[in-house]
Amino acid sequence: MKTTSYWWEAAPRSQNNNIELPPSVDVAVIGGGFTGLCTALTLAKAGVSVIVLEAGVLGAGASTLNGGMLGPSFHKLGLSGLKAKYGEQLANNILRESLGFVDYLEDFLLSENIDADFSRNGRFRGALKPSHYELMATELDNLVKATGVEAEMIPKTQQHLETGSQLFHGGIVYHGDAGLHPAKYHDGLVKNVKQAGALIAPNTRVDHLKKNTSGFEVQTSRGNILAAKVAICTNGYTEKVTQDLRRRILPMRSAMIATNPLSPQLIKALMPKNRVYSDSRRIVAYYRTSSDGSRILFGSRATGLKDNPHANAQLLKGFMTRIFPQLSSESISHVWSGLVAYTFDHAPHIGQFGGGKEDGVYYAMGYCGSGVARSSYFGSKLGLKILGKQKSETAFDELIFETKPFYTGTPWFMPSILSWHRLLDRFGF
Ligand SMILES: Cc1cc2nc3c(=O)[nH]c(=O)nc-3n(C[C@H](O)[C@H](O)[C@H](O)COP(=O)(O)OP(=O)(O)OC[C@H]3O[C@@H](n4cnc5c(N)ncnc54)[C@H](O)[C@@H]3O)c2cc1C
Repeated sequence: MKTTSYWWEAAPRSQNNNIELPPSVDVAVIGGGFTGLCTALTLAKAGVSVIVLEAGVLGAGASTLNGGMLGPSFHKLGLSGLKAKYGEQLANNILRESLGFVDYLEDFLLSENIDADFSRNGRFRGALKPSHYELMATELDNLVKATGVEAEMIPKTQQHLETGSQLFHGGIVYHGDAGLHPAKYHDGLVKNVKQAGALIAPNTRVDHLKKNTSGFEVQTSRGNILAAKVAICTNGYTEKVTQDLRRRILPMRSAMIATNPLSPQLIKALMPKNRVYSDSRRIVAYYRTSSDGSRILFGSRATGLKDNPHANAQLLKGFMTRIFPQLSSESISHVWSGLVAYTFDHAPHIGQFGGGKEDGVYYAMGYCGSGVARSSYFGSKLGLKILGKQKSETAFDELIFETKPFYTGTPWFMPSILSWHRLLDRFGF
């Protein structure tokens, strides 16, 4: 069993692409995932000098490790929760903007000429209990009224047309959801960012940001760079170098497994419409076929914040075979994991640090485990914000990026919360 991302088989990570650092740039982007690359692309196309500084190899973060599953990621609080927290207008704006994320990414891939095996076959989300099915149906009515989302309830009697699992009590199909190959998408972005004139420096960790009169001295593991502005695009990997952001982020580890190739008949029986899949669990499970349709890729929360591949493989295989007992005797070819970024209000955040004061530190992060489409959209919006251009606004600009007293960035309380959630899921609450 390999302990690297299955996606890296078709799009291997390149190790030897270090570059010489320039003495100064207009903008230093920290983090070489989708957010950082999309920010850099927008800036470079506008003629701004920009460098992307990445601590690891290119694609070391979540952007090449994820399930490649795309959806609007409607807010966890649901429509009524959102309205209660933000009022009707902002709640509606957030949901409508979210509904556009997949279209945005599809158009972006086309206009950037990136072949990332994008396919839009919809998502089936199974209901673990009859009461979950009822809740889904009510929420769908509200969402259709608020956003016009294209979705339909699938009763238990029709469920066999959607999934080979007997576990569910019906579910919902979101017709607009999609999938892509995240590492191919990342490679395409890297190529286009370089072509647009930006520099990309892998293996270059930012250790310290020192404010000076004209901007920042960005101190890295490979030397210092002067930058007028800085964009922090580090999501689940946000470290002490930006402690003010770190204490607003709850890093969590998500893990995935890939099966060895399966027979086409078995795949067809389990996932008849080749959609992407998830369910109503608190600790969500997500699964799909590989881009070539030969394997099943299955993901969920990892055993803990530290990477523990063998324990993760065991945990995930257990989850997977509870959903699909037909896979009990199949072996696992890959297990891997990465960090995602939760936030205290379950929403992603974008803006300029210092509460709107002109201090030159911009950020976009906190995608709460659903960041492939969101990070691409937020990255390009962040680029526009740095340029001071129109159309940089998002409904998310108005959200306060909360922290909690005494929280410094280590979510010591999460293991007990996750264990409790696992227990509730196990017994179907
Ligand atoms: C296993 C897994 C499955 C997932 N599945 C899905 C899915 O199916 N659908 C979906 O929408 N989302 C999914 N996600 C979430 C999605 O991958 C992320 O939200 C998204 O990739 C975030 O992109 P990013 O560019 O903001 O962050 P990342 O891609 O994580 O990049 C951040 C980068 O910052 C770098 N960095 C941090 N600190 C420094 C520093 N001091 N100096 C230099 N560099 C630094 C890190 O090395 C890292 O490469 C999944 C995530 C994981 C881990």
